Parts: sequence; structure tokens; C-alpha cells
Amino acid sequence: MHTLRDILEQTQKNGVAIGHFNIADLVLLKAVFAAAQELNFPVLVGVSEGEREFIGVHQIAALVRSLREEFDFPIFLNADHTHSLPNAVEAAKAGFDAIVFDLSALPFEQNVRQTKGAVEALKSINPNILVEGEIGDIGIGSEIHEDVPDLTKGLTDPKEARQFVESTGIDILAPAVGNMHGMLQSMVQGKTRKHLDIERIAQIKTAARILLTLHGGSGTDDEDLRRAIAAGINIVHINTELRVAWRHGLEDALVKLPHEVVPYKILPFAVESVKQVASSRLRLFNNAR
Ligand SMILES: [Zn+2]
Repeated sequence: MHTLRDILEQTQKNGVAIGHFNIADLVLLKAVFAAAQELNFPVLVGVSEGEREFIGVHQIAALVRSLREEFDFPIFLNADHTHSLPNAVEAAKAGFDAIVFDLSALPFEQNVRQTKGAVEALKSINPNILVEGEIGDIGIGSEIHEDVPDLTKGLTDPKEARQFVESTGIDILAPAVGNMHGMLQSMVQGKTRKHLDIERIAQIKTAARILLTLHGGSGTDDEDLRRAIAAGINIVHINTELRVAWRHGLEDALVKLPHEVVPYKILPFAVESVKQVASSRLRLFNNAR
């Protein structure tokens, strides 16, 4: 079985990106896995601190490992947006493949110092673990937002990106390049889309020469995503789009089956709804039709 690093290097060579989908329950995991397996694309499953608290750190690690082993399939697990070293250590010990160590809210020097310390601590637990660091401002919360936050001041500077990568020893960088966590209602309705600073992505890639993750991919214009991947993005995060699909699928089931109480007859509607979104995003990230 290939490691996540092997898969990422391969995607980089092929000019495609790996899809990262956040999950909070078995419905989302089943849907994302079914989409990846059907299309035969490797996939990265992510759990934020809140999602981990709900599903259980060791429980999600066991679930993802069981899928990987039973189906001999490249599905990997990421500890998304981890804001403290103890939480990162817990995930590393539970067997996660990657950790997003996110101190981007701190001043640059403190972010550098503490991220460097985290890289050393996490690699001592598992030398193969991939550590992602973050600089810049991409907003908080994969939810439906009322207003667009002003993130223009928090865009990542290519020189700072290089300095951050060199002084911390991270494996992956999450830059702020016009991306944003969450979606506006108008994006859910498909009336507006997010746009990315493609030139900045290319400059960061040239300066920092590192694997790059695009967070907050939900609601982003398809062509911008294609161009971002061509400019050097290796991982694309999708969360809010799946959450919206999860809710719509569930609502649909409850309307269609008003008297049903059997979970395994209700929940497949949500699985199917999430699977369609994951499939369509995976096709786009992998340049497939
Ligand atoms: Zn994120």
C-alpha cells in the first residue's frame, strides 16, 4: 500500500489534486468512500477538532483503517485544523496520516516557533506523518455565512511562505489565496462563486517549493479550481458543500418517508446526496469527466 506522501507526489506529477472531504458521521464517510471507490481515485478524509470530538479520535482512525485494509484502497485520514499540540499528539498516536497544525491566528514568529516544535514532536511519534502548517487568514467555520468577511489583508505573501516552510520543516502549506471557509447563501443557491488568486498560488509554489492545500474549496468556481491545481495546489478541501448535501438528503428522506423510523432506510438518501457532490468534485480535481 502506498503512503499518503507517495500518492501526493504522484498527483503532483500528474497535475491533479487529491480531494479532502470532512466527515462527522458514518453517512459522510460511507458517501465519500463510495464516491472514491467507484471512480478509483485516492481520497483524504478529514476531521476537525469538533468533528473528532463528535465521532471519537480513535473511532474514526479505526473506521478509516478498516476501509483501507478491507478494500486495499488508498483512503487516508487527516486531523484538520488542530489548534493545540496535545490534540495533535493524540491524533498522531491514534494513527492519523496527516495533521493540519493551525496557529495561523498567532503572530508570524510565534506561529513559526510553535509549528516547528509540533513538527518535531509529531515526527518523533510517526516519522511518516505529514504535517501541514498555515499562514494567512481564510476565515473560520465551514458553515453558511451571512456576509463575506474581508480576508484581503490576510492573503499569504510568497516570501513569507518560503520563510515559514524553511524555518518550520512542514511537509504541506495551507496558504490564503482568495479561499474562505464556509459558503454564502448565494453560493449554496449557485448564484455566486468564490474566485481564487491564481497568480499568487503560482508565486507561492515557486517560492516555497512545497505541497499546497487549498482550504475552503466549497462554492469555488470550477475553472478557478482547475487553474489552481495547474498552478500547484495538491489537496483541495471540501466541507460545507457536503454538509449542505447531507442536510438536503436527510430532509428529502423525512419528507418522502414521513412514518419511517428505521435509520438504514432513511439515511441512504443522505449518503446518495453527499456521494453525488463528492463524485463531482473528485472528477474535477482528477481531470476526469
Ligand atoms: Zn480548512
